[in-house]
Amino acid sequence: MVTGGTFEAARRAPLNLSVVRAVRPVLAPAAILLAAALAPVAGPTLPPSLSGLKTLGPYVVLLLGTGMGVWFNRGRTFIALASLLAAFAGYNLALEFGAASFAARAVFTAAAVLVPLNVLLALVFPERGVSHHFNYRWLMLAVVEIVCVAWIASAGRNSLSGTAWHDLLEHWLLRSPPMPLAGRLLFVAALVAATWRAWPRPPRTHTRPLDTGLAGALMAFFVACEWVTALSAFNAFMAAAGAIMLVSLLQESHRLAFHDELTGLPSRRALEERLHGLGPAHAIAMVDVDHFKKFNDTHGHDIGDQVLKLVAARLAEIQGGGRAYRYGGEEFCLLFDGRTLAETLPHLEKIRANIAAYRMAVRRDDRPKDPEDGTKLRSLRSAEKTLSVTVSIGIAEPDDVLSTPAGVLRAADKALYRAKEAGRNRVSR
Ligand code: GH3
Ligand code: MG
Ligand code: MG
Repeated sequence: MVTGGTFEAARRAPLNLSVVRAVRPVLAPAAILLAAALAPVAGPTLPPSLSGLKTLGPYVVLLLGTGMGVWFNRGRTFIALASLLAAFAGYNLALEFGAASFAARAVFTAAAVLVPLNVLLALVFPERGVSHHFNYRWLMLAVVEIVCVAWIASAGRNSLSGTAWHDLLEHWLLRSPPMPLAGRLLFVAALVAATWRAWPRPPRTHTRPLDTGLAGALMAFFVACEWVTALSAFNAFMAAAGAIMLVSLLQESHRLAFHDELTGLPSRRALEERLHGLGPAHAIAMVDVDHFKKFNDTHGHDIGDQVLKLVAARLAEIQGGGRAYRYGGEEFCLLFDGRTLAETLPHLEKIRANIAAYRMAVRRDDRPKDPEDGTKLRSLRSAEKTLSVTVSIGIAEPDDVLSTPAGVLRAADKALYRAKEAGRNRVSR
């Protein structure tokens, strides 16, 4: 049986759509960064009784974020937030000895290097969640990092035995403030890795908020380090780094609730909400893949999933004001708000014909590890398969009898049944 097949030619979204999709997730991090930049300049000066908020704020945000990272079981988010929290707490502790003290400089240098390093490592390894056993090694690494930094910071305070540590901090790679060169290099590497992960590429056309959040938080941390001598700016940008990650966690939970993971389309829950908001004039189409059970039985469930993704990608491109949703299984729904049935018909017909005409090249990627077996099997199976599917569509609009969107949807379902009865691969009303 063919498993793990991928379709070579996933359709690209039109350029303007890609730009909108790429820009939207960046808006929240950009707004938070801007707010952090303006806060020390334009923000009201806090009365002395509330000045503690300036350091308390970042603690609250970073702690909350770290807790939510555990709750959502997001390994990368947790590692980034825990590193930021440790960096912020460590530096504040070291500041007790004075901003120019060896301890403060050592902790700052370590934080500027270790935070981007940890994020980079977290990005290089696959996301396995916080509770996965792999991440307990992270906990070990965190303990080792904290103990080493604390030891160096205290050892270096001794002017006799600590000269080696003083020399180390004067090394051109580690000289600071502002951010040491080693930290800047690691920051660039981590930012490139985060941006690469966040970049939408087919068949995934959406940006994942957590990846964008990681890139935004790195930028906030970079600015915080560069401005470490202006403590209010440092605090504001550390809080911003935490806030960006927190917002990205909330965006991710919204995405999980309202988006279908397999196809990337809005889910049934999003559809139910949208149905309530439809205007008096609208058309609803129900779309169902033809003979999909047989398709699954013949080619396997994984190929079936790939087909669903492809059909969904096609439906997402529906024109004429339509919006595609995954209704469930191999059924989809198209909503046309403010359109009549007659207006939508040509677009439905076009999308039906597009799907039917599409030839999908399936590559197998279940090649065995043994090179000899691989050669044999590859020669047996080398030919790429070309598959195609069709869909049936039922469409309805409100009339004297059908007054509610839910009723129109049921009517569209009945029309879909008529399309199936009439021989499939067609649009019925
Ligand atoms: P018809 O033309 O009458 O619609 O026939 P059909 O076989 O498509 O209809 P039926 O409802 O009998 O079968 C739907 C099949 O869709 C059953 C199930 O195996 C498959 N299916 C539902 N959800 C998924 C999914 O998420 N992934 C995959 N691969 N298959 C799914
Ligand atoms: Mg069905
Ligand atoms: Mg079907």
